[in-house]
Amino acid sequence: MNKNSSNIMALAPNTSNKRETVCIFGTGDFGRALGHKLIQSGYPVVFGSRSTQTSSLIPKDAEVLSHAEAAQKAAIIIIAIQRQHYNFLTPLAEILRGKVLVDISNNLKINQYPESNAEYLAQLVPGAKVVKAFNTVSAWALQSGTLDASRQVFVCGDDMEAKQMVMDIVRALGLTPLDQGSLLAAQEIENYPLQLFPMWKFPILLSLGLIAFFFFYCLIRDVIYPYVYENKDYSFFIAISITNRICPILALILLALVYLPGVLAAIIQLYRGTKYRRFPDWLDKWMLCRKQLGLVALAFASLHVLYTLVNPIRSFVRWRISSQTVSQALNNKTEPLNTTNAWLSDSYLALGILGFFLFVLLGITSLPSVSNNVNWREFRFVQSKLGYLTLVLCTAHTLVYGGKWFLSPSSYRWYLPRAYMLSLIIPCTVLVIKFVLIFPCLDRPLTRIRQGWERNPQYSE
Ligand code: NAP
Repeated sequence: MNKNSSNIMALAPNTSNKRETVCIFGTGDFGRALGHKLIQSGYPVVFGSRSTQTSSLIPKDAEVLSHAEAAQKAAIIIIAIQRQHYNFLTPLAEILRGKVLVDISNNLKINQYPESNAEYLAQLVPGAKVVKAFNTVSAWALQSGTLDASRQVFVCGDDMEAKQMVMDIVRALGLTPLDQGSLLAAQEIENYPLQLFPMWKFPILLSLGLIAFFFFYCLIRDVIYPYVYENKDYSFFIAISITNRICPILALILLALVYLPGVLAAIIQLYRGTKYRRFPDWLDKWMLCRKQLGLVALAFASLHVLYTLVNPIRSFVRWRISSQTVSQALNNKTEPLNTTNAWLSDSYLALGILGFFLFVLLGITSLPSVSNNVNWREFRFVQSKLGYLTLVLCTAHTLVYGGKWFLSPSSYRWYLPRAYMLSLIIPCTVLVIKFVLIFPCLDRPLTRIRQGWERNPQYSE
C-alpha cells in the first residue's frame, strides 16, 4: 500500500510550487513535443534556436531566442539536436558553465561512436553538468500521450544534484525516472532504443530450429512411413496431429532448458568450490534469457491445450470412433472397460491440467507488474520450487501418456522412436541432476559456497 501511494505521489506534478524555467535547444520534432509537455506541466519554456522566428508548430506560450540568450534564462538546458551538430556549443562554453545540459540524443547504429553522445557533450562543454535522459521516449509518444511502452526514462550523470533536478522534471511529466548511475552508463542507455528484443533472439531461434527438426522427424515417421509401407495418405496430419505433437514437445524441452543452466551453474560452483568466478559467457547469456525461454514454452503449452480441445470435432477422430463402434456392432462384441487404461488416461489428463495451471502461474509471476509486488524470497519460491514442480508434472504427463510404448518394437519406425520419447531426454536429465544435487553431501557445500564460503581462497579475485 505504501509503495502504491508513493508511486502516485511521484507521478503527480506538484503544481503548488513555481516551476523553474527550462531551456530547450532546437525547435525540431522532439524539442517541440517536449516543450508542449513541459508547458502542460507548468514549466516556463524558452527555446534556443538558429532562427528566432516563431512558427505555429512551436508552443505559443514559449519564447524563441538565440542560443546564447535562451541559455541565460534557465539553469537546465535540454539539447534537442543531433550529435553531429554539437560543435555550435563550443563558442557558448562560457555561458553554459555550471548549467545542467540534458543530452537526449540517439544514434543510428549501436556503438556508432567510440564514446557516448553524452560523454562527447561533456568533453565539448567541460564546465557544464551533463545528464543523459529522455532518449528512450519518442516525440510522438510525448505529444499523443500514448506512453505505454516508454514511461520509463533512464537517467545517468556524474553530478547528483543535476541528476536529481532532471529526475524531478521527468516525474513532473508523469514519467518514471530510473537512475542508471554515472555518465559511464550513457553508452548503454543510447544503445537501448536500437535493440530489437535482444533477450528473445536465442529462445526464438532455438524454437525455430526445434520446430524444423521435429516437423521433419514427425513427417518421416507419421506421414512418409505409412505411405511407403501401407500406401496410406496421412498428409492431413500436418495440420493438427503433427502440430499438436510439436507444441507439447517444445513446451517441455524449453521448460527444461529454463532449469538446465541452474543445475549446470551448481555443478560448476561445486567443482570450482567458489561463487566468485565468472561463469562462461554462454552460460551467463543463457541464464539471462530464462524468462523469455519460459514464456515461449508457455506459448507452446497454451497452443497444445487449444489443439487438444478441438480433437473431438476432427473428422478423422470422429471417423475412427464411429468405425470402432460399427466394427464392434458387426462383430457383436463389446470391449470391456479396461480400468488400467482408464486410470492411465485420467492420470495423464490430470497431470497435464495441473502442469498447465502451474505453467500459467509461473508465466504470470514473471510479469514485471506482478514480480515487482512480491519479495525476493516469494519470487524465488515461485520460480524455483513451483517451476521444478511444473517440470515434474509435465514430464510425468508425457511419461504416463506413452510410457507403455517405450519397449514396444512397433513404436520404432525406421529405427526412429516416437518424437515425444526424444522430448523426455533433457527434462529427465535436468530432474535427475537436480535430484542428485538435493543430497546433503552436495547440497550442504553448495549452500555454503553460495553464502560466500570458498574451498580454496586463491580463487577469490
Ligand atoms: P529534428 O526534428 O531534425 O530537429 C533537430 C533540430 O536541431 C532542428 O530543428 C534545429 O533546430 C536543430 N539543428 C539542426 N541543425 C543544426 C545545426 N547545424 N546547429 C544547431 N542546431 C541545429 O530532430 P528531432 O527528431 O527533434 O531529434 C532531436 C534529438 O532528439 C536527436 O538527437 C534525436 O536523437 C533525439 N531524440 C528524438 C526522438 C524523436 O522521437 N524524434 C526521440 C528521442 C530522442 P533549430 O532550427 O531550432 O535551430
